[in-house]
Amino acid sequence: MRPAQALIDLNALRHNYQLAKSLSGRQALAVVKANAYGHGAVPCAQALAPLADGFAVACIEEALVLRDAGIDKPILLLEGWFEADELALIQRHRLWTVIHHHGQLHDLEQADIRQPLNVWLKLDSGMHRVGFMPEEYPAIWRALQAGGKVSSLTKMTHFSRADEPETGRTEQQLATFAAATRDLDGPSSLCNSPGVLAWPQAHGDWLRPGIMLYGATPFEFPQAQAEQLRPVMQLESRIIAVRQVAAGEPIGYGSRFVAPRDTRVGVVAMGYADGYPRHAKDGTPVLVDGQRTQLIGRVSMDMLTLDLTDLPGSGLGSLVRLWGTGLNASEVASWAATIPYQLFCNLNRVPRHYR
Ligand code: PLP
Repeated sequence: MRPAQALIDLNALRHNYQLAKSLSGRQALAVVKANAYGHGAVPCAQALAPLADGFAVACIEEALVLRDAGIDKPILLLEGWFEADELALIQRHRLWTVIHHHGQLHDLEQADIRQPLNVWLKLDSGMHRVGFMPEEYPAIWRALQAGGKVSSLTKMTHFSRADEPETGRTEQQLATFAAATRDLDGPSSLCNSPGVLAWPQAHGDWLRPGIMLYGATPFEFPQAQAEQLRPVMQLESRIIAVRQVAAGEPIGYGSRFVAPRDTRVGVVAMGYADGYPRHAKDGTPVLVDGQRTQLIGRVSMDMLTLDLTDLPGSGLGSLVRLWGTGLNASEVASWAATIPYQLFCNLNRVPRHYR
């Protein structure tokens, strides 16, 4: 069997969820959209179900996968619905839903609602992606309260730069949120992972941790709370060929890397078809038998190449860790000009094994 695999540690997932709860003492919806950021939505939700207050997904298709797998906890649709006829399914499956635009308000007005909905009304506090503007928000809130179609209303917004504490943007968003919701009674929800980890004053009633559940830090700098996260995914493979390349000779497609010295090259069964980023630069860290070395040469579809010159004990069959314990996916992501979210979501072909 091809040795590339992703080992998923469900205990680490539970630990990270509990960390979010213990940092805040608040309720937390585990964000398991996009197939639990590539980790497998059903096994991850099943592992968290006994301890989680609920789950959040992007859309109804993702919610139904969880319901079909027996997940009975609250599930919030972060994007709400796209077509009015989804409202029937939302009621039937007791889903909670975000409302973020006027079309959805109109659908709700027209709909035959027998089971009043648990609605999270989204405020655009400054990210300017989705949500109602501060000046219209209180009136919409009150209209929903009076309309008889809603059983519970939660004040909600989303941060654009909570991972960059120095920018002042989160303080601005918090002030906008406080002003727009001042006279409205109800629970609040503001925090994604960087909010949970670095903005205790913003915790509100409901957290929405995503990337931190999977053990990757959302920050580009060391952060004390994030140090307590445990990586959930170990992306591993093995050395399948070793060769000696003379100084001055190129390695791989496009001859991007030219060996500066006589180089012992390890070839690994892992490529961009597995989700390893093709844009990873020469020098991207990799662990071989637990020791750091680096990527050299362009990543191919099924293989990549490493420098083994300084690891004489490693060779054919050696265990290679692309990210996981000892090498945070965030660090790898920064070498590929991306973020750990995208690395996880792009995982493909590699079998996942759970423990
Ligand atoms: N809340 C909302 C509305 C989101 O869209 C997301 C993810 O993008 C999250 C929470 C979780 O964010 P993170 O993965 O940064 O914790």
